Amino acid sequence: TASAYGLASTATNFPTTHEKLQTAYDTPWFVNNEFVKSATSQYIDLHDPATNELITRVPQNTDEELKAAVAAAEKAFKSWSATSVLHRQQIMFKFVGLIRENWDRLAASITLEQGKTFADSKGDVLRGLQVAEAACGAPELLKGEVLEVAKDMETRTYREPLGVVAAICPFNFPAMIPLWCIPVATITGNTLILKPSERDPGAAMILAELTKKAGFPEGVVNIVHGAHRTVNFILDEPAIKAVSFVGGNKAGEYIFSRGSANGKRVQANLGAKNHAAVLPDCNKNQFLNAVVGAAFGAAGQRCMALSTLVMVGETKEWLPELAERAKALQVNGGFEESADLGPVISPQSKERIEGLIASAEEEGATILLDGRGFKPPKYPNGNWVAPTIISNVTKDMKCYKEEIFGPVLVCLNVDTLDEAIDLINENEYGNGVAIFTRSGPTAETFRRKIEAGQVGINVPIPVPLPMFSFTGNKKSIAGGGASTFYGKPGINFYTQLKTVTAMWSAEDAISKKADVAMPTHS
Ligand code: NAD
Repeated sequence: TASAYGLASTATNFPTTHEKLQTAYDTPWFVNNEFVKSATSQYIDLHDPATNELITRVPQNTDEELKAAVAAAEKAFKSWSATSVLHRQQIMFKFVGLIRENWDRLAASITLEQGKTFADSKGDVLRGLQVAEAACGAPELLKGEVLEVAKDMETRTYREPLGVVAAICPFNFPAMIPLWCIPVATITGNTLILKPSERDPGAAMILAELTKKAGFPEGVVNIVHGAHRTVNFILDEPAIKAVSFVGGNKAGEYIFSRGSANGKRVQANLGAKNHAAVLPDCNKNQFLNAVVGAAFGAAGQRCMALSTLVMVGETKEWLPELAERAKALQVNGGFEESADLGPVISPQSKERIEGLIASAEEEGATILLDGRGFKPPKYPNGNWVAPTIISNVTKDMKCYKEEIFGPVLVCLNVDTLDEAIDLINENEYGNGVAIFTRSGPTAETFRRKIEAGQVGINVPIPVPLPMFSFTGNKKSIAGGGASTFYGKPGINFYTQLKTVTAMWSAEDAISKKADVAMPTHS
């Protein structure tokens, strides 16, 4: 309940319980460190995925409001970019502490709006918090280089902020993805306009409150709301220098093209179809638990969910045991302690997922475990899909080609490791992949030949910690993966290099004639 998670009386009082609200609650936007009610007449209704009851209305900010957010961020940039990195680091330390103090509150908001279990929501927050913690190392990461390039002459580099930057976030990690952006964008001296997913902005609103408490000055972090219209505003606004996007391919490819065409830096992490190759020599028990957790955790709504199993040789005989373990998972409201997975985000999403299961049936696959039609007694109106396993899948089937983004595992059979590698490499996505084997040489061959950007060896969801970077590949990242989130590449994305060459000579110039040939310093 709200009080259990310390939510009863906060400044913003964002609701975080399944209890029906007495009055309609409108999500505010956040500008100049103030929560403001939008003047809009257009709202997007947000329903609890476990009950489908209205939780809040999310405004489509008006153009005037969006312009005001940009004006606030532009004004703040002048003074914020002039602060020392050590000053910004002190604020980031406070922000980190506040996220930890508000961990349960953030997680409860995620469970309410997004549906994932409370334990999983805590992981969502922690993964983002770790990015903020790593961002505190910015004084080291922002150091430039220097070289004496010739007698009396040196060249050195600086990393300077870009200006106003923007972030457009997906629904599936309401805290983690905003936290891929807020810490790295601001510690580098930029000011930020963040658009959370219109389907679950609550965690971003709590984070906004914490940025204010941590001491971020007015206008450094601003939160705007809406759907396509807000996105188009961000893409076309000349004052916004860079856009960070995480979401699906349809929106992301459009955002990458339009943002880039308008001269902005764009980093865009997109959809996925993550495969696991399982070899007969693996630790079977570890594999079974790992795959069941990674396929069905968060109701399969993770970009790194292991949604596709490539069973090499006799491992296909393990399918009944896999189905037993999947069947044992409890599907329930995310605040229920027994819940292993919650609902999917919306009735439309449930319908799409069930449609893909039906298409597999029509195309000749076997529905080994069917999660359609399940309803937990306490939450009959939620968007439920229980764990589903589809076996005898082939590459031409719709359920293989499309990202399902639900608790559905599709299983294909091959005879050899080479066949598994070829099959995985043929897939157009390349976010994450895993191999399960006890053999070092087998894992090494796989690692060398596989085209996915993030490889797990007996690790089902190999999302890199923030001292590394999130390195998707192929269709899972726009722009060929040139710009990736967090880690050193994240710092590079949010900064512009400036290279200075200086000469300080103790002697007077000797020659009386100007040298017009290209200087080479050799
Ligand atoms: P989505 O693309 O529907 O929405 C993401 C954001 O884009 C939202 O803020 C939304 O308002 C906006 N948007 C949606 N459609 C738009 C359009 N046509 N034009 C302009 N803006 C639009 O994604 P989602 O459903 O919220 O998230 C799930 C997707 O995100 C999955 O495909 C998942 O794989 C992907 N994802 C990828 C990563 C990664 O790092 N690769 C991480 C998380 C999620």
